[in-house]
Amino acid sequence: MTAAAHPAVSGDEAARPVATYRGPVVPEDLGWTLTHEHVFVLSPELDRDHPHPEWDADRAVDTAVAGLEELWELGVRTVVDLTVPGLGRDVALVGRVAARVRVNLVASTGWYTDDVLPPYFRTHGPGRLVGGPEPLTEMFLRDIREGIAGSGVRAGMLKVVTDAPGLTPDVRRVLESAAEAHLATGVPITTHSNARLRNGLDQLAFLTERGVDPRHLVIGHSGDSDDLDYLRRLMDAGATIGVDRFGMAHVVDDETSVRTVLALLKEGYADRIVLSHDAAFFSRVTPPSWRRVHTPHWRHDHLPRHVVPQLRERGARSEDIDQMMIANARRLLTPAGGTA
Ligand SMILES: [Zn+2]
Repeated sequence: MTAAAHPAVSGDEAARPVATYRGPVVPEDLGWTLTHEHVFVLSPELDRDHPHPEWDADRAVDTAVAGLEELWELGVRTVVDLTVPGLGRDVALVGRVAARVRVNLVASTGWYTDDVLPPYFRTHGPGRLVGGPEPLTEMFLRDIREGIAGSGVRAGMLKVVTDAPGLTPDVRRVLESAAEAHLATGVPITTHSNARLRNGLDQLAFLTERGVDPRHLVIGHSGDSDDLDYLRRLMDAGATIGVDRFGMAHVVDDETSVRTVLALLKEGYADRIVLSHDAAFFSRVTPPSWRRVHTPHWRHDHLPRHVVPQLRERGARSEDIDQMMIANARRLLTPAGGTA
């Protein structure tokens, strides 16, 4: 076949690579993927002035390296780190981890707030005191196109949040900028939603009204609810739901999540579900000593070690597991449209 007849290398048909800490990875190589995780959840101002007694950067890096290498042995190939600004994203620190592990780590951009943005954003942006273009959009695009904080690590996922306060003016700003950055680059969007308030529907409406194709959207934390009608509505609209808090016992018990997944698999929704933990190797919000007592299974290895075997025993077919853990993640992470 001539080059002209086979333009897939640089043409539209070539699946665009996924940005990871190690550089671009072809979607076929992503493999078993945990789509909603954290490496470190920090709080930079607190950490600088009031360091947490359990935090030691070198030790934390070693812990994360050991954990991710263990995941590789269990068959996990890719982990999406959804730690964005507002949760203490630090790509230099996670980069030290990424350099020592075989698992692909994907970095994210976005802003974590369920209510208000920092004061900087009050004065910057069109029509504001200092003015200029919308800084959120500029930041998201820079993180995706040029890399984060001069590291060269490009973001492969956008992350936005709505919770009990709903679509506040600042939350709308974040979602609007995420939609814009998604349309410009094709990088997918994952949300933090409050499933008990069914507010994934508000996110879905807000983002699709701004042109986001729900096939590139994960409504995260949907599995906090076992309201199947609600979950079906999200999936029937084309979105993927995250049942992404296995082991997070203070929010949802595993048995509920397992039953939800099994029920939806029976109804044929395997292509609209992703599974993950929302775990962290260190989080200042719920530090390791607290987790050891209250959420001993809230670890990145809980799905491959315990949950997936249980799903299989209780009737999930291998092709459904592969669909959720491999194919859906590949479809979602592959940038669609736009130009990176
Ligand atoms: Zn999370």
